[in-house]
Amino acid sequence: MGLFQVFELGLLEIKAHVIDSLAYPGGQPIELYPDKPIYDIPAIPVCTGKELTDALLAQIKPFGATFHLGQTVTEVQHREDGRFFVKTSKGTEFLSKTIFIAAGVGAFEPRTLKIDGLDRFSETQPSLQERTC
Ligand SMILES: Cc1cc2nc3c(=O)[nH]c(=O)nc-3n(C[C@H](O)[C@H](O)[C@H](O)COP(=O)(O)OP(=O)(O)OC[C@H]3O[C@@H](n4cnc5c(N)ncnc54)[C@H](O)[C@@H]3O)c2cc1C
Repeated sequence: MGLFQVFELGLLEIKAHVIDSLAYPGGQPIELYPDKPIYDIPAIPVCTGKELTDALLAQIKPFGATFHLGQTVTEVQHREDGRFFVKTSKGTEFLSKTIFIAAGVGAFEPRTLKIDGLDRFSETQPSLQERTC
């Protein structure tokens, strides 16, 4: 899991910047199976996806990573000076000697219904009253 990379880098006194298209850290365990039991983490007989995420976040806390959430990496270029240029969907730019890609199955995107006229409702949320009517 990408969050553990922050821990490994922290041991080398390297501070990490974590970019994720999700609005919160945790990848598949927090997004797809927060309540599912996990049995294959060394020294932990059983935990849920959320418990695993919370434990990893606690474990990396001392290393002070900076999180850039809700943004997708759209551009990665290896420059002539050896550094990497990285740009996100929010326009955030990075220059880094090293990048680690822990992209799992890729960035999560909602699968929208194929219905004419649906576009005008995107980025909107029905009120609680509308949802319960
Ligand atoms: C239902 C289910 C149950 C599972 N159960 C287990 C289990 O019990 N035990 C086990 O060992 N494994 C399990 N797995 C597999 C495990 O979840 C994955 O192997 C693990 O999450 C991979 O970790 P990762 O950090 O590489 O990727 P992920 O957890 O997929 O995280 C990748 C993150 O990168 C982000 N991302 C991707 N592309 C971009 C981009 N271009 N820009 C910005 N962000 C990006 C994504 O939004 C995501 O948050 C399960 C998987 C599923 C789907």
